[in-house]
Amino acid sequence: MKDNPVLCVVIPAYNEEAVLPITAPLFLKELNLMVSEGLVSDESRILYVDDGSRDSTWTVINALASQDPHFCGIKQSRNRGHQNAVIAGLMEAREFADIAISSDCDGQDDISAMREMVRRHLEGFDVVYGVRSSRETDSFFKRFTAESYYKVLAMMGAEVVFNHADYRLASKRVLDALSSFEEVNLFLRGLFPLVGFPSTEVSYERHERMAGESHYPLSKMLALAFDGITSLSIKPIRAVTILGLIVSIASFLGVIWALISFATGHAVSGWASTTCIVCFVGGVQMISLGIIGEYVGKTYMESKHRPRFIISERTRR
Ligand code: UDP
Ligand code: MG
Repeated sequence: MKDNPVLCVVIPAYNEEAVLPITAPLFLKELNLMVSEGLVSDESRILYVDDGSRDSTWTVINALASQDPHFCGIKQSRNRGHQNAVIAGLMEAREFADIAISSDCDGQDDISAMREMVRRHLEGFDVVYGVRSSRETDSFFKRFTAESYYKVLAMMGAEVVFNHADYRLASKRVLDALSSFEEVNLFLRGLFPLVGFPSTEVSYERHERMAGESHYPLSKMLALAFDGITSLSIKPIRAVTILGLIVSIASFLGVIWALISFATGHAVSGWASTTCIVCFVGGVQMISLGIIGEYVGKTYMESKHRPRFIISERTRR
């Protein structure tokens, strides 16, 4: 591993005018500490990615960039969501940095864990995953759904690091490899294990958000969860096929039963069972079509090869 690497801390920010002034000095302090300890080069940068904010986030980023040369920023032409903001930042980082760390801007990802990540990188790891040591700051609902989700992903054969979100270090060669993954529906935490290279984990405490509000309502969380499964696994489609087979066999037996009932003269009392079968088969078909439709829809979106991010403005670097 390169000594004294140039680090780029990639921080997505969407409508974060309240929290940026609080966390920016903390990021800078941590970076300066790493520079003084000789862990990273003084050429390192803290790169904000304004994800098409509607508030004064971009003004704040510009002010930071003029205050200290370590700060810089890019602005997306519109809001594209957290995952796309992170990839935009990582691809920008790849241009000038040897390593990049992606982190949320709200202080929830423990800023002081970056030092440990860099140390582990210097020991020879290309990817260092930040893993939450506990979920005590989460509500019971979030904890339960998040942990169940990781288990479901594992069951589907998708490789993800348990309790790791998007706080991670990646080396330049990992970013270079990542740039050849062209999907638009991003689920980054599933892509890094696919890229490969030596990796390790660093555990950290997840804090409360320091100011402002979360931009991840349940609907966005569910969308990301669904993207995760459909990006990494086609087992649901296979499950539909198996379900179809089972239902077909059951229906076939039902038909034989109906024919026998008819032949033996017990046919009239069959209304309830007929209705049940029709409803059941109809329901299963609709669910199956829905699941297949998800994949067809996704294929359609991917087939357009639309850009994953469009940068409209830049601070100087
Ligand atoms: N974020 C973004 N674009 C979005 C939503 C969120 O860039 O459309 C950023 C946000 O500014 C923050 C990070 O993604 O830095 C995580 O978002 P948030 O803290 O709102 O989510 P939570 O931590 O509550 O899951
Ligand atoms: Mg947050």
